[in-house]
Amino acid sequence: MSDGVNVNIQQFPWLLPAWQRLDQQMRAGQLGHAQLFVGQPGIGKRAMASLMADKVLCLSRRDGLACGECASCLLLKAGTHPDFLLLEPEEEGKQIKIDQIRQLTDFVNTTAQRSPAKAVVMGPVEQLNVNAANALLKSLEEPVTQVYLFLFSHRPSGVLPTIRSRCQQVSLAPPPFNEALAWLRQLVDHEHAAQALLLAQGGPLKAIKLLDDQVVVGFMQFCQVLSDIAAGQVRPVEAYAKLKTLSPLMLADWFYLLALDLLRRRQGGKLEHFASLAKLPLYDLPARHLQGFVDACQFAKTTISQPGNANAQLLFENLLIDWLRLLRQSQA
Ligand SMILES: [Zn+2]
Repeated sequence: MSDGVNVNIQQFPWLLPAWQRLDQQMRAGQLGHAQLFVGQPGIGKRAMASLMADKVLCLSRRDGLACGECASCLLLKAGTHPDFLLLEPEEEGKQIKIDQIRQLTDFVNTTAQRSPAKAVVMGPVEQLNVNAANALLKSLEEPVTQVYLFLFSHRPSGVLPTIRSRCQQVSLAPPPFNEALAWLRQLVDHEHAAQALLLAQGGPLKAIKLLDDQVVVGFMQFCQVLSDIAAGQVRPVEAYAKLKTLSPLMLADWFYLLALDLLRRRQGGKLEHFASLAKLPLYDLPARHLQGFVDACQFAKTTISQPGNANAQLLFENLLIDWLRLLRQSQA
């Protein structure tokens, strides 16, 4: 079912400029048949795609929005609109398969039944496997009139250039940090809203998910371990025991972001500081030692993200030892 019917574009103020541009194109009869929404995770690309789908299917649009009441909008709400197709990986993080693209091909080649057009929402497009991507390309090369594809991608560099070039690419950006934080606080009353937003790298919807999934609690644990090591209250190898329930990929990411942030601050950057928001003491660390720590964190991140059985325990124990060594060097 389309998610769009339960939300409103006004709920995502940072998406309005792009929405209005598309609206103008649509009114002028110039909306391309395939849009590719790109941008970092958690900023509303999928919501935008769904809202556009609702709009092209709606039988009585008002002020550029789906009415929410016509037969088409009601069918979308019920999840039974015959002219709407949503294609996503069967499980989060998995591939979109060739069978799903065959479904798309069949769908676009039949006539619309209830609406003046048909609409497909699909993504993340970088998760199409090679065969599926090639099959999609055929649909893009032979556009069918009154069929609109609303695709989205977190990582357009992972999408075949031939697919990208056949779509109208719409780049979406997160709102400025403080605006995003104000928006987030209106929706969720959480003491760690700022940390969640920072971990989400500014993606407001991702921040909500991180809060829901208790990821921020894990992050605070991570920060506690780092300051306990700094205070000499726990040894690195013992400290890892407190972190081993966390996802290794996420943990590697946090180490890397922390290291980068410390390095940037050392170089005079004025960013929203990961380290200060994590309530870590503001260490004045020597730049050349910091660079070594950044490299070690990057190595761990790369190793963990590759397929195979990386020894997470060993990698993270080493990083915690590096962390302690780094702090000692700064005091030397
Ligand atoms: Zn409607």
